[in-house]
Order: sequence, then structure tokens, then C-alpha cells
Amino acid sequence: MSETPQTRLLIIGPPGAGKGTQAARIVERYSVPWISTGDIFRANIKAATPLGQRVSQIIEAGKLVPDELTNEIVADRLKRDDVEHGFLLDGYPRTVEQVHALDSVLQVDARALDEVVLLEVDTDEVVARLLGRAEVEGRVDDTEEVIRHRQEVYAEQTEPLIDLYSTRGLLVSVDGLGEVDAVTERIFAALDAKLQK
Ligand code: AMP
Repeated sequence: MSETPQTRLLIIGPPGAGKGTQAARIVERYSVPWISTGDIFRANIKAATPLGQRVSQIIEAGKLVPDELTNEIVADRLKRDDVEHGFLLDGYPRTVEQVHALDSVLQVDARALDEVVLLEVDTDEVVARLLGRAEVEGRVDDTEEVIRHRQEVYAEQTEPLIDLYSTRGLLVSVDGLGEVDAVTERIFAALDAKLQK
């Protein structure tokens, strides 16, 4: 068994909260690989793989890819050697069923998550920001309907995870509003305090 400490993290928050930006900084600071299911799906869509073809319409509609498929992809990813000292999961788990699937994958190696960072933002503000961005960038895929639907899916399927991880004593809530750097500082301060326990 390696003596090096492990840092197994998850970042959670509504679509548009700035998870990706903060995730990039977290993985750099804690030297862990970044596992984003959204990125995995997008890369497959771009490369037109069978997986990409299967999920592209689901993603365009702002719906969730079926749990079974998503769970399998993450389970495979967590078998790679680079997760030996930890990882940051971004965008997974997103449903209670995915939490259970992740629990069983981690149990195999007697591992568990260390901390779950929740980026707290006001949903109305996020929707307004996303709509503004879609307009400026002319993103046809980010219609108001899809943007709102993603928020609904988050509220229904993903928000229950907040209580679940809070009950396990893993939740680190961080105010996600304000300057990007200020949010990063808050995350680092909260995580450092918890991880050094
Ligand atoms: P993201 O970049 O995390 O917002 O993910 C983009 C899209 O990929 C989501 O809107 C979903 O359609 C799909 N997706 C990403 N992660 C998951 C997941 N854990 N479960 C189901 N679908 C997912």
C-alpha cells in the first residue's frame, strides 16, 4: 500500500455555476486528474465515436445520459493508474443512482470520497448569465428552453445529492458568486482546512 495521501474530490453545482473554471484550478493545486463526464461525452461527440453518436442528441436537449452508460464510463476511467493518489470528479455523480454506483466502485479498493465541494449560486442569476453568453456568442445550442431544462434536471436529479453528502459529513459549501479568483480562494481555504484534519 502506498503511504502517499489520497485526495478524492467531487465538485457539484448547477449548470453555469463556474464548475469547469474552478475544477481546472483545483486539479492543479491538489495534483489530481480531472474527470469530467461532460468532457468525456463532448470528446466522443467530436470524434464521432459510437458513444458520441449515442449521446449527442441527449446532450443537445439538456437531458441526462442514462445512468447505466455513464456509470460504466466512470468505472472504467477509475481503473486507470493515474487515480492512484486521488482525482476530481466534475459532473459525476449527478443522480442518486450514480452515487450508489460510485460507492460500489470505490468500495472495491476500500476508497471513499474525501470532500464534496458545493458551488452555491443563485439559479436566476446563473440563467441570466447563460442567456447573455448564448446571445453574445451566438450559441444556437444554448436556447433558453435548453438552459432552463438543464436547471430543472439539476434541481430534480442532482440537488438530492447535497443532503446525501451532507449527511455523510463530506460537504464543503462555497459561495460561488463574485470574482473567479475570490471563489477559488474560498474553495482552497475550505478544502485545505478539511483535508488537513
Ligand atoms: P456538463 O459539462 O457536466 O454540464 O455535461 C454536459 C452534458 O453531458 C450534460 O448536460 C448531460 O447531458 C451529460 N452528462 C454529463 N455528466 C453526466 C452524468 N453524470 N450523468 C448523465 N449525463 C451527464
